[in-house]
Amino acid sequence: MRIGIPKGLLFYKYHKFYVNFFQSLGAEVVLSPDTNKNILNEGVKYCVDEACVPIKIFHGHCAYLKDKCDFIFIPRIMKLYENEYICPKFCGLVEMVQNSIPNMPPIISEPIYADNLKNLKKWAFKVGIKFNKNILIINKAFNTALKNQQGYRSGLNNNKSKIKVALIGHPYNLYDSYINMNLVEKLNKLGIGVITEEHVGISYINKESEKLFKKPFWTFARNSYGFGSYMAENKLADGIIYISSFACGIDSVVVDLIKNRVEDFPFLELKIDEQTGEAGFITRLEAFTDMLKRKEAEVI
Ligand code: SF4
Repeated sequence: MRIGIPKGLLFYKYHKFYVNFFQSLGAEVVLSPDTNKNILNEGVKYCVDEACVPIKIFHGHCAYLKDKCDFIFIPRIMKLYENEYICPKFCGLVEMVQNSIPNMPPIISEPIYADNLKNLKKWAFKVGIKFNKNILIINKAFNTALKNQQGYRSGLNNNKSKIKVALIGHPYNLYDSYINMNLVEKLNKLGIGVITEEHVGISYINKESEKLFKKPFWTFARNSYGFGSYMAENKLADGIIYISSFACGIDSVVVDLIKNRVEDFPFLELKIDEQTGEAGFITRLEAFTDMLKRKEAEVI
């Protein structure tokens, strides 16, 4: 039994769990390749125009896999933390793909409530029973997947650079180097280090986000706002770069909330979609990093 897993959206964060779970059940896992021009073009071809580019790219990964597997796993993630939600596009992703791409194989689409272990385990049994009737094996697959995920640390922290920026955005924008046009490599070449939210304790992030007039109920918003505010407030970075997706409602709100909070702290928003040109992207990046370098020289 071959299960296709698209390398898009939160695959970057949770692939250890997904891949190990299905492999431990005895399935052969087929992954789509890293995002490339072809995947993007396929995504743009199939997906509705109004969607953000990460959703279009996800469609491209599904289109790549559709004839190469018996099932496709589309994680219908509903919740990651208690009393919080994630973007509604994740909840409707299965229907979007099914209605946009013809001849899709059967989709593993059970909703994932990962706000506590009990709920996540329920999901594992609902899905696992389709592949293996032995509940001991499902239980073992769940524990193996969980252990692998817990032992995995995503995120970036370049310690050696003198100047460092806090890099903010959805994981699929930060860790997909095709979508962000190799941003981290470009920054490193300019002598700038980066740090991402995974390298700051969740308690600091939460404490900062609780200072808002109302705690954000979107998990992505809470993380981005809390991380950006914490880094600026404590001068733990020299500037903030926020990679946002064109047409993302969450980004449009959070960018302004962070800007209001950090006031004159250096802040650059890089908005990406399938039309973003690399030349303009580089110019803005160079101008911003020049400014950070001048500031650093003034301090010395
Ligand atoms: S959070 Fe924004 S970027 Fe992510 S899927 Fe939703 S609309 Fe797209």
